[in-house]
Amino acid sequence: MNKGNKLYEGKAKIIYETKDKNLVIQHFKDDATAFNNLKKAKVEGKGVLNNRISEYILTNLAQCGIKNHLIKRLNMREQLIRKAEIFPIEFIVRNIATGSLTKRLGIPEGTVLDKPLLEYCYKKDELQDPIISKDHIYSFGWATNEEIREIDRITLRINDILSGMFRGIGIKLVDFKLEYGKAWDNETEKKEIILADEISPDTCRLWDVKTEKKLDKDRFRKDLGNIIQGYQEVARRLGIMPEETNISEVNFGKATSIKFKKK
Ligand code: UDP
Repeated sequence: MNKGNKLYEGKAKIIYETKDKNLVIQHFKDDATAFNNLKKAKVEGKGVLNNRISEYILTNLAQCGIKNHLIKRLNMREQLIRKAEIFPIEFIVRNIATGSLTKRLGIPEGTVLDKPLLEYCYKKDELQDPIISKDHIYSFGWATNEEIREIDRITLRINDILSGMFRGIGIKLVDFKLEYGKAWDNETEKKEIILADEISPDTCRLWDVKTEKKLDKDRFRKDLGNIIQGYQEVARRLGIMPEETNISEVNFGKATSIKFKKK
């Protein structure tokens, strides 16, 4: 599938059009940003790892009946995906209190929540993605009541599946962010809600079960170092990277030289 014009460039990804109006190509960059773009850096190899980790997770979710935008991974940095009209909402799920929740409400860091907590943020960089209520969503027409009911149901199911998947490899799924969109369904000739964007250590907080070591973007946010090694550890435990590969020894300028396990 050939890449056409650039449609959109975000902080960590670029979207290109294809000849098919319902399909686009998603390119994973190495750029890392935090604190609403105040902190920026290039983390060599991050795009390659996120492409691979997200492919693995979305493929597994699809097998569990969660419709998502992934058609197939095309190469080390790109995926062919369904074009979707993205809801301007970030859907956050929290299992353990950390990050903005602890700052906003003074909940002690590490508090295990009785049940998953769903939060909604309005996707608006200029406003630093403010937290919103469901009523804001309905009042401003960002999604309907029915759509949110469906998305909440899918989101909680994803939390169950991913919590189990990560627990099985010694990782706690602390919290994460999802995005959804509406995409054209050729079979029903209607738009349907699908999971979009990526699920990766950029969008999840992942702690080692025993040591609580952070294996996610908090390594970048909090200057903990060894960012790539954290992401690589996740890929390794998911079984998509051979044990012997050490990303720190790989020249990411030639990203195609990284060895991943064949599916
Ligand atoms: N998150 C994300 N993108 C965002 C904001 C949050 O992927 O723009 C993820 C983040 O990685 C974490 C979860 O959503 O896994 C909850 O983030 P929180 O609100 O605590 O964000 P913080 O402000 O602490 O980065």
